Amino acid sequence: MVSPVHNWARNERCVPRTIRRPEFPDELAGIVAAAAQRDERVKVIGAGHSFTGAAMTDGHLVSLDAMNQVLHVDGTDVTVQAGIRLHELNDALFVRGLALPNLGDIDQQSIAGATSTATHGTGTSFGNLATTIVGLELVTGDGTIVRADEQTDPELLRVARVGVGALGALTEVTLRCVPAFNLHAVETIEPLADVLADFEGVMESTDHVEFYVVPGARRCQVKRNTRTDRPAEPQPRMAYVRDKWIGENLAFGTVCRVGRRFPTMAPRIAKLITSSASERELVDRSDRVFCSPRKVRFVEMEYGIPRAAVPEALERIVALVKTLPFPPLFPIEVRTSAADNIPLSTANGRDSGWIAVHQYIGAPYEAYFQGVEAIMDDYEGRPHWGKMHYQSADTLASRYPEWATFASWRDKLDPNRTFANPYLNRVL
Ligand SMILES: Cc1cc2nc3c(=O)[nH]c(=O)nc-3n(C[C@H](O)[C@H](O)[C@H](O)COP(=O)(O)OP(=O)(O)OC[C@H]3O[C@@H](n4cnc5c(N)ncnc54)[C@H](O)[C@@H]3O)c2cc1C
Repeated sequence: MVSPVHNWARNERCVPRTIRRPEFPDELAGIVAAAAQRDERVKVIGAGHSFTGAAMTDGHLVSLDAMNQVLHVDGTDVTVQAGIRLHELNDALFVRGLALPNLGDIDQQSIAGATSTATHGTGTSFGNLATTIVGLELVTGDGTIVRADEQTDPELLRVARVGVGALGALTEVTLRCVPAFNLHAVETIEPLADVLADFEGVMESTDHVEFYVVPGARRCQVKRNTRTDRPAEPQPRMAYVRDKWIGENLAFGTVCRVGRRFPTMAPRIAKLITSSASERELVDRSDRVFCSPRKVRFVEMEYGIPRAAVPEALERIVALVKTLPFPPLFPIEVRTSAADNIPLSTANGRDSGWIAVHQYIGAPYEAYFQGVEAIMDDYEGRPHWGKMHYQSADTLASRYPEWATFASWRDKLDPNRTFANPYLNRVL
């Protein structure tokens, strides 16, 4: 009897036929080939951190947790097995004097899970994590192992960097890293009207800028991370524990529980959260600044839209929140990322502004997320592949100029849909 599997937010659940943990690419290829011969489905799960059912299956669920090694280092190109978690990777890179150029908010995902959904951080000149891939190995729908890099098969490389698990099972990826660097982090509280009036200027004011907005509050929290040669001057351990564990997790979790129980207090609680956000400044290892622990569970929707549309879209979301029967307990997060040429990347061909909305688990989110999605539709919004949305292939196809390119590669690599699942059936 196989136990049910949940994603991180526990809003998605599946009961697979089997759960497999291969240690070698050949073993994984054998699992896929055997399933394909019996016309059964296979799905690779990373850390299960997607808010969508991307990694769910009632077929054979494959975890690559045992395939988490660094295989090869050639200058700044580092080949790793697909199951390595980002925190393991960051440490392995650091001891080699290297780092990923950019990261999102957390470091718990597997590298293949993160890149397959086009996971991104922030920075107007930085692409998502998948743009760092310069080589990959993939098990296709019949169990064949194929490899691609810039010399051998640049087109397969280009396409398979963001596959949402539909093209095959990645066994390894080669990442173009950069020399290890520190970040100078400056967190400030600024008037929201000023930030929106000069949105482009703020987002381009340094390498990595993001801000958090509590609807109804006049000020927002702005985080600016600048790449620096300065030596690390991290926060004292006690201050880190106070800010990251107690402030952002323990106290925040308590506040969310109160807000969920007494919704009429939620707007005041949300404002209290911004007013309690403090200004901070420190210099530390890049991954330690980019990523933070996230212990308060939530559900999330995030949309990429043309960057210039962000201020208007954000103001519309703030107005929407005033009309909701149950207001959000989490702030809205705004980020940017650079355009790329990956067919299914959410930033394909377009410099993107990102707006993410969250709700505490167990609190109503449907009216909020549906309302936000309706606003995002007006800007040709592309939902993050790993975050909640209500779109389907019919509504998404026209938003991706290279949708047909991806579809033809899917037909070639997985003609019998060994890697299909209900999520892919809906969105592709
Ligand atoms: C607390 C939290 C914070 C987050 N912060 C950010 C953020 O800052 N920025 C951002 O962009 N996203 C963020 N996300 C979303 C997250 O990065 C993505 O959902 C990511 O896909 C999760 O990685 P995973 O390893 O858990 O993959 P899973 O959720 O397990 O899988 C995601 C997809 O990848 C496929 N996949 C996994 N491994 C392979 C493989 N070896 N070969 C082929 N396909 C594979 C799966 O089949 C599935 O389709 C966050 C999520 C959470 C829960």
